[in-house]
Amino acid sequence: MSEHTESLHFIEQIVEADLDAGFSAGKLRFRFPPEPNGYLHIGHVKAIALNFNLGQRFNAPVNLRFDDTNPAKESIEYVNAIKSDIQWLGYQWAEERYASDYFDQLFAWAQELISKGLAYVDSQSSEDMAIQKGTPTQAGTNSPFRDTDSETNMKLFQEMADGKHEEGSLVLRAKIDMASPNMLFRDPVIYRILKKAHHRTGSTWCIYPMYDWTHGESDYIEGISHSLCTLEFKPHRDLYEWFLSNLTPLDHHYPKQREFARLNLSYTVTSKRKLAKLIEMNVVSGWDDPRMPTISGLRRRGYTPQSLRNFVETAGISKRENIIDASLLEFCVREDLNTKASRVMAVLNPVKLVIINYPEGATEMLEAENNPEDPSKGSRLMPFSKNLFIERDDFKEEANRKYFRLTLGKEVRLKNGYIIEGQSVIKDVEGTITEIHCTYDPDSKSGSGSEASQRKVKGTIHWVNQATAVAAQVNLYDRLFSDESPDRHKEQDFTDFINEDSFKQITAQVEPSLVNLTPGTNVQFQRLGYFVTDTDSTSDNLIFNKTVGLRDTWAKKGSN
Ligand code: ATP
Ligand code: MG
Repeated sequence: MSEHTESLHFIEQIVEADLDAGFSAGKLRFRFPPEPNGYLHIGHVKAIALNFNLGQRFNAPVNLRFDDTNPAKESIEYVNAIKSDIQWLGYQWAEERYASDYFDQLFAWAQELISKGLAYVDSQSSEDMAIQKGTPTQAGTNSPFRDTDSETNMKLFQEMADGKHEEGSLVLRAKIDMASPNMLFRDPVIYRILKKAHHRTGSTWCIYPMYDWTHGESDYIEGISHSLCTLEFKPHRDLYEWFLSNLTPLDHHYPKQREFARLNLSYTVTSKRKLAKLIEMNVVSGWDDPRMPTISGLRRRGYTPQSLRNFVETAGISKRENIIDASLLEFCVREDLNTKASRVMAVLNPVKLVIINYPEGATEMLEAENNPEDPSKGSRLMPFSKNLFIERDDFKEEANRKYFRLTLGKEVRLKNGYIIEGQSVIKDVEGTITEIHCTYDPDSKSGSGSEASQRKVKGTIHWVNQATAVAAQVNLYDRLFSDESPDRHKEQDFTDFINEDSFKQITAQVEPSLVNLTPGTNVQFQRLGYFVTDTDSTSDNLIFNKTVGLRDTWAKKGSN
């Protein structure tokens, strides 16, 4: 064993042990096998990272294989989305493969099973077959078609493939053991009739192989050494091996299936089928809605590839299922954006601030550092004048000693600017403040080195210059579900826990430097959080999505 074994996760240890036992390193090969029936989600990131990181660690190829055996649910749109998501994460597959590439071989192998008396065509209804399956504690009963001779089965199977029978009228079943304690061994269906065009094979086929029959054989054809899947496939492992052991072997080793725990994230669901339901119900706008736990949704929300990779690596590879707290995901993106995102100023809930002793009509440019964590990011100049916007929440007419924002008769600093003191307010007939008047100390400019500039004031608030501010649409999000594990309730459906208030849209005033940001640019709105320009954002219609606040606020108030 290598001396680093302690730091390896259990899958890496399995691979190391195989190498130690003589398996040739040059024959290691992994794969990520998505079904193109939806977009990838955060759970898939774990499986992707696991396989591609193994490839990297052991210098072995990793295939991307589409498990495309159900044309009723699959499409080329999903294939393309899956490819671009994996590339966006920063991984590159060795070969792009499709289970449908193997339809001829799978068909020939099925004929081989028939000729060996290990498969038969069954014409019973699926209900009847289900009843005959028995229960885990009670043996099943044999199908009346179980002993049909090979010749007849071969002919019927060919007729199925030739389109001579209706959908649902016949299936091909492996003949294994109707009394097996493993229910999957009770003569599983391996082919069904499906008169649907396939996105790759068109109308060549009207029978399609089932998952269990396809998966192991596809791994085998590709020379996969370690076929990694989630724990729910553990009972399938014996069947995977049974199928392979009953075929005339190819000239290479058999793959080894091993299982790891799926990733579950709190306050969401990670299942393509359930996510598709949210779209169908119009709870979200699509697969890339920024509230979705899909890779495309997280990307639109402002998550970076690095943050997602760090997240799944921190969550780790284990044998036991658990639910990872969504705050870990947020921690990872905050940590990454802290070093990457430029600091800018935006006011989400603006109120006018007038500096009464500032010269009328004058504008000066104040220097602001782009990222104090990274001096190489440089600085920019921000226009400043008599009339500004500040955050309505940053002012109180009267406040106690612990209030460090703007109030009447006390000083605060305007970020990158001057020290001001609140003087008076103007209100409308309803009593809402429409303008705050203050004075400034002309000698207190940030960074000027003057004595006044070094005077300590308790608070600093952000602002934007009214005349040059740009209105921007800002999308604020909350969790999609009000329950920590919405799909783990026996009595209720996950859709019963949808949070109806997960989306809010406001108009903010932002500094003018943001007007030309390209979609997908991460920034930190100072004191507020990380935001990203939306896919649909343009310089005429700026749109920002809130990625995450600056601190973990979930623990405190249960919302973000
Ligand atoms: P879904 O229920 O979302 O459709 P799936 O398992 O059916 O998930 P596939 O496209 O078949 O989706 O999965 C491709 C690979 O990703 C499989 O190896 C699967 O085990 C893995 N995977 C899917 N969901 C998760 C998850 N939540 N955590 C870790 N791996 C996952
Ligand atoms: Mg699946």
